[in-house]
Amino acid sequence: MQRNKIRKQLARIVSCSVLSDNEILDLYSVDASSYRLKPSVIAFPRNEHDIIKILPYAKRNKIPITVRGGGTGLVGGALGKGIILDMRYFDKIKIGQESVEVGGGTFKGQLDKELRKHGRFLGPDPSIGPYCTIGGMIATNASGSHSLKYGSIIDNLIQVKIITSDGKLITLPNKKIAKQLLELIKPQIQKNFPHVSKNSCGYRIDKISSEKDIQKIIAASEGTLGVIISAKLKTFPLPKKTIMILIAYRTLKQAALAVPEIVELKPAALEIIDENIMQHIKTKIRNKAQCMLFVEFDENIKKNRIQVSKLTSGNILKEITKLSEIIKWRNFRNSALSHSLSSISKRETMPSLIEDATVPISKLPLLLDLIECLVSKYDMKTIIYGHAGNGNLHVRPVLKKKNKRIIKKIAKEYFAGVAALNGTITGEHGDGLARTEFVKSQYGDEIYSIFKRIKHIFDPTYTLNPGKIISKGSMVTRNLKI
Ligand SMILES: Cc1cc2nc3c(=O)[nH]c(=O)nc-3n(C[C@H](O)[C@H](O)[C@H](O)COP(=O)(O)OP(=O)(O)OC[C@H]3O[C@@H](n4cnc5c(N)ncnc54)[C@H](O)[C@@H]3O)c2cc1C
Repeated sequence: MQRNKIRKQLARIVSCSVLSDNEILDLYSVDASSYRLKPSVIAFPRNEHDIIKILPYAKRNKIPITVRGGGTGLVGGALGKGIILDMRYFDKIKIGQESVEVGGGTFKGQLDKELRKHGRFLGPDPSIGPYCTIGGMIATNASGSHSLKYGSIIDNLIQVKIITSDGKLITLPNKKIAKQLLELIKPQIQKNFPHVSKNSCGYRIDKISSEKDIQKIIAASEGTLGVIISAKLKTFPLPKKTIMILIAYRTLKQAALAVPEIVELKPAALEIIDENIMQHIKTKIRNKAQCMLFVEFDENIKKNRIQVSKLTSGNILKEITKLSEIIKWRNFRNSALSHSLSSISKRETMPSLIEDATVPISKLPLLLDLIECLVSKYDMKTIIYGHAGNGNLHVRPVLKKKNKRIIKKIAKEYFAGVAALNGTITGEHGDGLARTEFVKSQYGDEIYSIFKRIKHIFDPTYTLNPGKIISKGSMVTRNLKI
C-alpha cells in the first residue's frame, strides 16, 4: 500500500502524529548498524490505546510493524519497510525499593539520573550510555561492562507489559502464556544452548523453567513478539567504593589467558582494548603493549588489589580509586567504537556483523586463534575490544569498501568456529538484519522449530518485525549502506 494512503488511514484511527515526509523517512532508514532500509510511515503513539489500534490495522493490511527506541542498535533491528513505532512518549519512571517500573521508550540516561537520586543503578550498562531506551535494551537483551557482576537484562527483568500483534495488552509472567510456552520448552534443549554467561541470539528459552520466568521470553525478542510498553527491572545500590586497575599485556593472547583467573576474584567489570584503541589514549603508556585490561572491583577492594598484583603476568599501569578518574577511563573504553572508526581510511569499512560473538572465557585464546586465521586468509585488519570477563569480543574487520561483500563468507566461517567453541554469535547486540540467517545454524533444527512455534503464539501473521530472528532469506548483504 502507498505511504500516503497508510498515513491517511492511520490518522483516521489514532490521535497521535503519523508522518511520511521523505526527510523523516530518511532519518528512520538508518540506525547504528551497517544497513539502510526505508520505512513507509512513522507513528508516534502517545498511549497504549494508539498502539492497540495500530497493530490490528497493520495486521489486517499486511503491513510490517517495527518498533524503534534510540536507534543505537548495531544490527538493523529497528529498521523495517512498513510502519515504525517511535516509543518516545512511553517514558514513565516509578522507583521502588529494589526495582523500578519504567516505560519502554524511556532513555537510559533519564533512568540513570532518577535512580542516582535514590542511590541506585541499573545493572546492564551498554557502552552507548544514555542514548538507548529501556524497550531497546530489553528487546536486545542488552548488557555492558558491569554485566559481569550485575547480569544482562534477562537476569534483571521481573515483569514486562507488552501489546501483541492482535492488539492485546498482556503482562508477563501470566498463566495462559506460561502453559503454552512450557509445553514447548523441554529441559533437554538446554544442551544445545551455548555455554556462555550472556547471549542475545534467538529466543532465550533456556532461561525459562517455570511460570515465574515467562517474562524472559521478551528479552532478546527484538520486537518480534510484542511491543514493550513498560517493565519492572531489578536495581542495585550504588557501590560505596570502586577501584579500577589498568593492566597492559604484550599480546592479546597473554591478556586472554589472564582473564579466567581474574574473573575468579569476582570483579564488577573486566574489559579489553587492543592497540588500535590504545593509540587514542592521551596519557603516555610506559610499556610496549598490544592490549590492556580494565579491571574494576566494587567489593573487597584491598584484598582484590593485592590478589591482582600477585597473579598478573601483565604490567599494572594504574590503580584508580577516585570516581571522577574512573569515569574518565570508563568513557574512554566506552568510546572504543568511535576510536575504531577514526582508525580507518576513507576507502575502508568496518561492517557490524561478527562484532559480538561470546565464548566461554577459557576459550578466549582459541577465539583469538580463529580471528588470526581469518585475518591472514582474507588479508584484512581487525580492531578488537569488548567485555573480556564475559568472553564477549567486539571484533571489527577492516575491509576495503569494494570487497565488503566477503563479510558474509567471513561471518560463516567465524560463526562456525564460535559454535565449535560452545559460544554464541551474539552476546548482547542481537540478530537483526545482520545475523538472523545464522540463528538456525547456531541452535539446530529442533530449537529453531520451537522458535517458530513461539512466534506463532504471539504473532501468527508475522506482522511484528518480520525477518528478524525467524529468517525470511539471506539479509546479510542486502540493504548494506556502507
Ligand atoms: C557505540 C555503541 C556502543 C554499544 N555498546 C553496547 C553494549 O555495551 N552493550 C549492549 O548490549 N549494546 C551495545 N550497543 C548496542 C545498542 O546500544 C543496544 O542494543 C541498545 O539496547 C539498543 O537500544 P535502542 O533503544 O537504541 O534500540 P533500537 O536500536 O531502537 O532497537 C533495537 C531493537 O529493539 C527493538 N525495540 C526497541 N524498542 C522496543 C520496544 N519498546 N518494544 C519492542 N521492541 C523494541 C527494535 O525493534 C530493535 O529490534 C552499542 C551501540 C553503539 C552504537
